[in-house]
Amino acid sequence: MKVKVLTIFPEIFPGFLATSLTGRALKEGLWSLEAVNIRDYAFDKHGSVDDTPCGGGAGMVMRPDVLGAAIEANYQKGRLVYMSPRGKPLTQKMSHELSLEQDITIICGRFEGIDQRVLDEYNVEEISIGDYILTGGDQAAMILLDTVVRLIPGVLGNSSSIENESFEAGLLEHPQYTRPIEWKGRQVPEVLLNGNHKLIDEWKKSEAIKITKERRPDLLKENS
Ligand code: SAH
Repeated sequence: MKVKVLTIFPEIFPGFLATSLTGRALKEGLWSLEAVNIRDYAFDKHGSVDDTPCGGGAGMVMRPDVLGAAIEANYQKGRLVYMSPRGKPLTQKMSHELSLEQDITIICGRFEGIDQRVLDEYNVEEISIGDYILTGGDQAAMILLDTVVRLIPGVLGNSSSIENESFEAGLLEHPQYTRPIEWKGRQVPEVLLNGNHKLIDEWKKSEAIKITKERRPDLLKENS
C-alpha cells in the first residue's frame, strides 16, 4: 500500500508509525509513507497556505489554490481522504476496507479546516476519528493509518488475533488474563486454566456479549 499525506507539518511523520508492528511493516515494504509539504505548493515568498474566512469568523482557512496544487501534483489514483470532524465516523469495518487499497492519499487540515471547494472539486471522502476536535488532521491521519496498516495482510503475525478483537464481530472483547495465576488474592477464572477449548470459547463469547450489553448496547443493535 502506498500512502501519501498532504500536511503542513511533514516532520510529524512517520512518528509512532515507525515503531512496533506498523514500523516493522514500513521497513519490510508492506506499506510506504510519503509526507508531502503543502507549503511547497504555495505561490508567494512567505509560503502562505491559509487566509481569513470569507464572511468573517474566528481563525484561518486553508486556501483552495495552494491545497489544490498539492493535490494535483501528488494524487493520481486510489482513495482521496480528508480527515475531518464532519466526516463519516471511522469504524473497524472502514479500516478493513481501506487495508485492501493500493493507494491512499490523506489531506491533513489545520486551522479552521480547508476551503469547501477543494472537497467538492476533487470529490474528497471525509473521515472523522471521533466526536472531538483535534488541532490538526495529522494526528487523525496517524490514528487512521495505525488501524489500517495492522490489517494489511502479513502485518499481524497471527491473523486469528484480529478475529476476536473488539468490534470485529460486533462485540467488545472478553477480559484477558495472563500469569501469575494468582495476583493480590485475585484468581484467573478457572475455566481458562482447564484446557477445555470448547468451554473456553463459550466463556469468551458469553463474556463478550455481557460486556457489550453493559457498555455498548448500540453495537448489538447494529449487528442484529
Ligand atoms: N473548525 C473545524 C475544526 C478544525 S480542527 C470544525 O469545527 O469542524 C483542524 C483540523 O483538524 C481539521 O481540518 C481536521 O483536518 C482535523 N481534525 C480535527 N478534529 C478531527 C476529528 N475528530 N477527526 C478527524 N480530523 C479532525
